Amino acid sequence: MSKAILVLNAGSSSIKFTVFNYHDGELHVCYNGQIEGIGTRPHFKVKDGDERVVYETGWENPLLGKGHAYALEQLATWLDPHLPEAGLIGVGHRVVHGGPKYSAPIVIDGTVLHDLESFVSLAPLHQPANLAGIDATMDFLPGIPNVACFDTAFHRSHSLVADRYGLPTEFYTEGVRRYGFHGLSYEYIARALKRIDPSIAQGKVVVAHLGNGSSMCALSGGRSVDSTMGFTALDGLPMGTRCGQIDPGVLLYLMREKRMGAEQIEGLLYKRSGLLGISGISMDMRNLESSLDPRAAEAIDYYVFRIVRETGALAAAMGGLDGLVFTAGIGENSSLIRELICRGSAWLGLAFDPEANAGHGPRISTPGSKVAAWVIPTDEERMIALHTLSALREV
Ligand code: ADP
Repeated sequence: MSKAILVLNAGSSSIKFTVFNYHDGELHVCYNGQIEGIGTRPHFKVKDGDERVVYETGWENPLLGKGHAYALEQLATWLDPHLPEAGLIGVGHRVVHGGPKYSAPIVIDGTVLHDLESFVSLAPLHQPANLAGIDATMDFLPGIPNVACFDTAFHRSHSLVADRYGLPTEFYTEGVRRYGFHGLSYEYIARALKRIDPSIAQGKVVVAHLGNGSSMCALSGGRSVDSTMGFTALDGLPMGTRCGQIDPGVLLYLMREKRMGAEQIEGLLYKRSGLLGISGISMDMRNLESSLDPRAAEAIDYYVFRIVRETGALAAAMGGLDGLVFTAGIGENSSLIRELICRGSAWLGLAFDPEANAGHGPRISTPGSKVAAWVIPTDEERMIALHTLSALREV
């Protein structure tokens, strides 16, 4: 019998969704889409499983589409006649923060909801939007169970040394920890790698999730042992508009010498730094690659330098390296960035195959390479759907 799962990824100004049909042990995409511009000029677009646009509408007046609740109501209204026959059995939500408590997906009840609200202080820019998505789903799809799938959960396997900062222990106890993010993506890749390259999957692998948000994860035997992101999704690699790793002394300087407050610093580090800040041109890697401006080259050089450096650091954290996997928008599509990173990682035993790389692999190292390099598309929505099925004991 077939069953439908709705996967929701509610961000601050957009809601992305996928409807899966679960039949004979397989998940098939029926629809995916998004409502963008929530709060400004909402635009709703749906594609079917063959990527054909099947519905598109927009609202000129931002007052009409003023929040997640309104957007979810539109989605629920559209979904109602479009769900597979057997109906919806659950909604899987991407939730950025599971705090120290949640190391696995969980069916949302009053206690879980209360916990998720208490984690807002750990992810003030993202968690409220996730919660708004859950609230709205409870209103518009009453009686349908909701499952929270956390971006942090996959990293709860880190050892204490990888999980803490060099601060007094009371800060660790109250939750100032190196949580790590993009966990749903890494978990999907760890599973996919078991099928694609089983011997590497049992070994030591660095996964580079390179998108607008970028991070890297050290996988040992398929488990996360370290990650470049820490307490927040600011740490580690430079990103589209986020700075990545920075000396905390810089923040003290900004506060003392520039008289900048928390909100101004937050705006600088989250919105005006990274590829955009360095290039002064764009946060988008495609624009930087096609630009002749030397500042674009400088931003690319910095991005690659930090990734190569972190590859070495994560290999050190695992005591070796058997594989390097590229995923997400830049990792899956930019042969230039992959080439620069692979060439910078030759010292680890990675023999790069330029022809395979130009064709996007999937394997982009030579057959004799000590370190295997792969391009593997990520699928966080599918991972959430799988988690939702198992949390609801449907598989
Ligand atoms: P998000 O973190 O928002 O999910 P994505 O994983 O979609 O981000 O990645 C977006 C990034 O991928 C952008 O910087 C975009 O320029 C880059 N990208 C997409 N396609 C290409 C391409 N063909 N070449 C280079 N970069 C690309």
